[in-house]
Amino acid sequence: MLHENHLAWGYTKNCMRELSAYGARRKEEIGAENVFDFGLGNPNVPAPEAVREALSALNAADALAVHAPVPAEGLPELRRAAASYESGVCGFPMEPEYILATCGAAGGLAICANALLRPGDEAIVFAPFFTEYRVFIEGAGGKVVSLPPDAALLPDLDALEQALNEKTRLVLVNTPNNPSGVVLPEALLRRMAELLREARERFGRTIYLVSDEPYREIVYDLPAAPCPLREYDDAILCYSFSKSLSLPGERLGYLAVSSRMAEREAVFAALKRAAHVLGYAGAPAMMQRAAAQCIGLTSDLGVYRRNRDLLYGALTELGFSCVKPDGAFYLFMKSPEPDAKACSDRAKKYELLLAPSDDFGVTGYLRLAYCVSTAMIERSVPAFRRLAEEYGLV
Ligand code: PLP
Repeated sequence: MLHENHLAWGYTKNCMRELSAYGARRKEEIGAENVFDFGLGNPNVPAPEAVREALSALNAADALAVHAPVPAEGLPELRRAAASYESGVCGFPMEPEYILATCGAAGGLAICANALLRPGDEAIVFAPFFTEYRVFIEGAGGKVVSLPPDAALLPDLDALEQALNEKTRLVLVNTPNNPSGVVLPEALLRRMAELLREARERFGRTIYLVSDEPYREIVYDLPAAPCPLREYDDAILCYSFSKSLSLPGERLGYLAVSSRMAEREAVFAALKRAAHVLGYAGAPAMMQRAAAQCIGLTSDLGVYRRNRDLLYGALTELGFSCVKPDGAFYLFMKSPEPDAKACSDRAKKYELLLAPSDDFGVTGYLRLAYCVSTAMIERSVPAFRRLAEEYGLV
């Protein structure tokens, strides 16, 4: 059944994939330094020295032991370190026995969807959202209910109240957000939690909040991103080392079931079973050993702030309307014409690669990933000027 589904699904058209294939071709044709690629969101600062040192030490240690299989739920030292880190973030004790090491946040999200959703169950996502959410939810047989944002690109809680029903099983939040860069305010999370508790009473079923936080440490004007698990008990955190430690290729993250969730034992068992069914026989062992020592550290994230300030300043000066990012490394720019895909195509004339927002569940915006060199942003400003001139903005 699932097999048939996937065959029928084929390879869905995706603007991001097209843009990155186009970018690769163009870089070959005119040289990478002449293409202003704001397409993909991969860290461009190296992993901290401590990670490299930990890996070197592991490499020099007994190879048989270092590469030996590890428990499917994760190495005890990583689970302990993650619980202690999360206790600090959440402000209440989190327990190592409810931490599951995963292959990145993507692995964690796929596991959550498969553990929590049954065919026909609804999963609410707030647009704009990470394109892969649809893949994970629909792949698990769930139905994506995408809610449009409010004027500030935050979740619209009136829309949430109306969307909650007896089929809702999961609500997915992402803070700081890919693609908009917004950080969910504490008051909004609190009100959201109230609505979920009310819905639980009304419909007599648990609604799980899955909090996807791979960009947690990348925040600019706040001391920290407010913590969704503080506000709602039936919550699962999905964390990743891809962005904080600049290790996207190493595929490591974890799920943390809130220690305040009444049914945490059953939910953790369901997550473990889903991971098993999906073929995750654990997560990369060597990276778990290194991450256990480095959790809480970050790469030098200062470049993202410099890039945000530079890009936001340049674009707004040129008359583009932008959402000022509070976190992550994405900037959401309003398309000067209603069709963002048309604007993205027009921008290509100036070698600017900007991702239209349609794949992220909203129309009329472009996402600019500014995890690029500051020099590239500086070189791109004249190209943005020509684009602004074409639209009569300057
Ligand atoms: N969630 C969001 C919002 C992301 O932007 C990404 C990656 O870009 C992921 C999850 C997946 O991250 P990972 O590399 O940890 O699988």
